[in-house]
Amino acid sequence: KAKQAGKNRAQPYAPHMQADALARVHLEADLRMAVEQRAFELHYQPIVDCASGALVGAEALIRWKHPERGMISPLEFIPVAEECGLIVPIGEWVLREVVRQRRDWLARGHPPLRLTLNVSGVQFREAGLPELVRTLLAEFGTARSSLVFEITESVLMGGSENVEARMCDIKEQGICFALDDFGTGFSSLSYLKRFPVDIVKIDRSFVRDCPDDRNDATLVEAIINMAHSLGLRVTAEGVESAEQREFLRALGCDYLQGYLIGKPLAADAFEALMAPLRSAAAAPHCTESC
Ligand code: C2E
Ligand code: MG
Ligand code: MG
Ligand code: MG
Repeated sequence: KAKQAGKNRAQPYAPHMQADALARVHLEADLRMAVEQRAFELHYQPIVDCASGALVGAEALIRWKHPERGMISPLEFIPVAEECGLIVPIGEWVLREVVRQRRDWLARGHPPLRLTLNVSGVQFREAGLPELVRTLLAEFGTARSSLVFEITESVLMGGSENVEARMCDIKEQGICFALDDFGTGFSSLSYLKRFPVDIVKIDRSFVRDCPDDRNDATLVEAIINMAHSLGLRVTAEGVESAEQREFLRALGCDYLQGYLIGKPLAADAFEALMAPLRSAAAAPHCTESC
């Protein structure tokens, strides 16, 4: 590993590769420090009911507040964190933060929205995950249901009874599973049938050119119909236009997420968005389980 080579030693790489390797070493060191200092923040992107437009939940998305570089995208540091194992403490922080935030919002009279968070495959396979979930739910005394773990198809791939048993263990604690970025992996319909998944999230890349691109439109329609026939709900990701929203609505898509609905917001800004719903009797879509 580049890290073990030390940064002052000559490396047998082309100059650009050396620069890349060095940048990577720095990123990893900075990330290690960020974990110690909890230099992360969660932003919340609204998810609405497709038919009514009602706010039903939010996806928690991590941000890294780097001292010199400002906010760093998870697209840049999550893969690094997965490779060097830092994803485990980071993922634990995310889970704790979401559970804590949810308790605080409920305590302040906000409706029980469904909060979803991304669980890396590395984190999912950690032996202690079900126990961590149990501990956090006990610590923050939150009611069952309305927490969703987003995993990707790669987690299910090659996964055997272990994966299924683990999902069931976590589900028993009232947590639902969503299959993120659906369609980009080695999508297999058999996964949807075999594993206890509740929600399918159609990847943004398929929604982007809908409804104009006939292939994408056909694919999106097929995913929605297939998911529904298996008893699953569907969230469309990356909804940016009213045309896309109408198209998805006509197909009976369940939930929408995307810049048209709202960008990810800092916790206090998201709370302001929820304020009109405060103590409003119900928010019927939110209390149902996945
Ligand atoms: P994702 O889980 O598929 O999250 C959706 C991403 O699409 C987010 O990017 C969101 O800001 C972006 N997005 C949402 N709506 C739109 C839209 O209408 N147009 C466009 N162009 N983009 C949209 P973000 O926040 O940069 O996160 C990127 C990825 O990083 C996530 O993809 C997820 O895979 C990963 N990630 C984020 N937070 C966490 C985390 O806490 N833990 C783990 N393990 N991964 C995370
Ligand atoms: Mg996600
Ligand atoms: Mg996604
Ligand atoms: Mg995605």
